[in-house]
Amino acid sequence: MSMELSTAAPDAPAVADDGVWLACVACGETFAPFETVRYTCDDCDGLLEARYAEPPTWAEFEASEVDRGVWRYAAALPFEMGVSLPEGDTPLHEVPRLESEIGVSRLRIKHEGMNPTGSFKDRGMTVGVRVAKELGVDRLACASTGNTSAALAAYGGRGGMETLVLLPAGKVAAGKVAQAALHGARILEVDGNFDACLDIVQDLAERGEAYLLNSLNPFRLEGQKTIGFEILEQFRDEEGRFPDRIVLPVGNAGNTAALYKCFRELVQSGALDEADVPKLTGVQAEGAAPMVEAIENDADEVRRWDEVETRATAIRIGNPVNAPKALPGIRNTGGTAVAVSDEEITGAQRALAAEGVGVEPASAASVAGLRKLRDEGVVDDDEAVVCLTTGHLLKDPDAAAAAGNDPESVPNDTDAVLAHLAGER
Ligand SMILES: *Cc1c(COP(=O)(O)O)cnc(C)c1O
Ligand SMILES: [Zn+2]
Repeated sequence: MSMELSTAAPDAPAVADDGVWLACVACGETFAPFETVRYTCDDCDGLLEARYAEPPTWAEFEASEVDRGVWRYAAALPFEMGVSLPEGDTPLHEVPRLESEIGVSRLRIKHEGMNPTGSFKDRGMTVGVRVAKELGVDRLACASTGNTSAALAAYGGRGGMETLVLLPAGKVAAGKVAQAALHGARILEVDGNFDACLDIVQDLAERGEAYLLNSLNPFRLEGQKTIGFEILEQFRDEEGRFPDRIVLPVGNAGNTAALYKCFRELVQSGALDEADVPKLTGVQAEGAAPMVEAIENDADEVRRWDEVETRATAIRIGNPVNAPKALPGIRNTGGTAVAVSDEEITGAQRALAAEGVGVEPASAASVAGLRKLRDEGVVDDDEAVVCLTTGHLLKDPDAAAAAGNDPESVPNDTDAVLAHLAGER
């Protein structure tokens, strides 16, 4: 099976272009990557993934002409360089207080909010927009809970293309809409949830009206795969080994699928021992947890939730399109999935902020999930863990203000300010 961790590197089929092709993860059919626009399998409608005749090695990364960021990992990507701002090369923070409070041997925070538009979506867009140029399309579109629209607007604008974003009306954090607006996207607010927006964008794409850059697009995940390379390199440089577990928020499960692909390719090339592959651990909000339900029920397919609700708007998704890629990733790495409440998410957002790491609510779900799994004894106290924080605090200023301290009004007078400080808060 193509999705197992230890599969050997595949032979290039006749359709390959310079050692790159697309393959259906359901039936195995292969397609030329850049001849025609295609998002799913012609034969069975299954998800597609990019494949390479030569999986990447650490030596290739070290020899890269680009020092850092997504394009350092060009050996694992379909092109040498993309439309770049540049992206990636995000910090791996130590959080000593949180580490001892949660009770694991090592805890690091991979802060993807430090990308150019403030989320990991930039890693996918730099590759996706490059592919759009290769295909010669001129209008790009996405459905979005916010961050994809900000990244698409910025990278599409940079690439000189028209951008169209469909957002669930009233359900997108203020910072994200502002970004999409200023970077020049046409913003269409749909009276429906994210999943409804994605249905419409898929229809538009099918009718040839726009090139779809949601994570259904297999090339987005190629860029996001570099989060995994970066985590492994940064953690190894510090600790001389790889993390036991990577915990991440799950919406459409694109990142979960992308990290799993990163590990599989490294195992294929011999760059990573199967025994060293981190356990992929997904976290969802209780009000939008179809992946958690599937993992808990050991189900082959994810049931679409029509009603979803959570303060963590970036993961307010009831129909995770990448589930067929992500479920094997969680299972074959020995990971798990867990749901957390909005209160637990806000608690984790505060705890991260107290250590100087400012993240949006969805991002804090990773830390909330780790805390829960540690309390339940699913995560051991001797584990080395990396939590992925996917977006920046400023993306959702309303959530930050609500979770943080209230401003106190004081008179315009120093003595009165001192008296206020000395008094009750
Ligand atoms: C897109 C996004 C997610 C969800 O990622 P998936 O790859 O769709 O699972 C989580 N957090 C933030 C901040 C995001 O923007
Ligand atoms: Zn197929």
